Amino acid sequence: MLEIANVRAGYGAINILWDLSISVPTGQLTTIIGPNGAGKTTLLRAIMGLVPLSQGSIRLNGQPLDGSSTWHMLERGVAMIPEGRMIFKDMTIEENLMLGAFPKAHRAASQANCDKAYAMFPRLHERRTQLAGTLSGGEAQMLAMARGLMSDPKLLIIDEPSLGLAPVVVNELFDILARLKAEGRTIVLVEQNTHKAVGVADHVHLMQSGKVVLSQPASKVSLEQLHELYFAR
Ligand code: ATP
Repeated sequence: MLEIANVRAGYGAINILWDLSISVPTGQLTTIIGPNGAGKTTLLRAIMGLVPLSQGSIRLNGQPLDGSSTWHMLERGVAMIPEGRMIFKDMTIEENLMLGAFPKAHRAASQANCDKAYAMFPRLHERRTQLAGTLSGGEAQMLAMARGLMSDPKLLIIDEPSLGLAPVVVNELFDILARLKAEGRTIVLVEQNTHKAVGVADHVHLMQSGKVVLSQPASKVSLEQLHELYFAR
């Protein structure tokens, strides 16, 4: 269980998250939706220890997570797939993948994890020796997902994976998310495609101006109510 409790955080003197609390149950998919600037990415960065908390705590199975280095996060079974993919275009697909297994604890299993990633993303296998800069937007997102899986994380933090992708690729991406969930991984997903996100999620949280304004099981969510709140200012 990932427990985000009464968190305040921001950038220097600018506070973005206000007393924000969210519980993320183990083995389930929790989606966080909300308009641009609501603070969703800031929340994910706070979970990853990239934005310091000025109040509250973030705990994974009872142990504090905030303040850990990114390196340490991977060792603890947490990986982030950032918005914008952040792949290294001048490196091959396989070299990009291997970077996801860089921490010592994961290097021994890197070939096995690479094989697993290729089984899930066969197109990456076909193109493994090509430079990542030659990939389409959809393939680059798949590479970012595959790289995130190279440390075999228990908790996956995923930021806006469908941004800018064609509908057919978005469908593929959500199929992959459903498979990752079926594997028992805990997933925190920030998405702008509300319909798809609610479809794959177990729990839905709507953020606005740095606060959670609605928390519901996905099965109870009314998309109409969500959209009304989403656009309310
Ligand atoms: P989007 O969907 O546009 O990515 P978001 O909900 O993820 O939105 P954030 O990216 O967390 O929102 O941004 C929340 C607020 O924090 C915005 O007002 C943004 O301008 C501000 N912000 C983001 N990064 C920084 C930074 N490095 N320094 C100062 N302010 C920042």
